[in-house]
Amino acid sequence: MNSDNLSKDGKRLYVEKIQRGTVIDHIKEGFAFSVLKILGLEGKDGSLITVGINVKSNSSQSGKKDIVKVENIMLDQKQIHQIAIISPKCKVSFIEDYKVVKKFVVKIPDIIQGIIKCPNEKCITNVEREPVITKFRVISDDPLKIACTYCERIVYQDEILRTSF
Ligand SMILES: [Zn+2]
Repeated sequence: MNSDNLSKDGKRLYVEKIQRGTVIDHIKEGFAFSVLKILGLEGKDGSLITVGINVKSNSSQSGKKDIVKVENIMLDQKQIHQIAIISPKCKVSFIEDYKVVKKFVVKIPDIIQGIIKCPNEKCITNVEREPVITKFRVISDDPLKIACTYCERIVYQDEILRTSF
């Protein structure tokens, strides 16, 4: 467990450990629900999902972070890229048998393919004749600014959240 999750006397501040699944830590504060929405997680299968919003964090500039723990799900590469779009630099841990088996900081790829819709209605990726997979070049990752490689439309993070997920 990350020391951020412990109070001074060593008590866990919130939620129990998960036996198996994924912990997404250091999510930009206020974005935990966006992360759940993007991943399509609603807990309807009965798996435990715990969400911490505006949790105290010493390593975050604002002093706050969000955290999401999902039982029984190991995120795949596409989901990790999706999360990186919402909250660059968050930390993902895979848990097996209550132990962290893999931990890494998410990274936005230089090219984002097939995840985001182009907001330009006239873009070739929005014309139904032939399916063209969207492709964006990342100009800056935090705050996120990307450009469609087909129509050169610049897209910012808030627009992505509104139109793609
Ligand atoms: Zn476009």
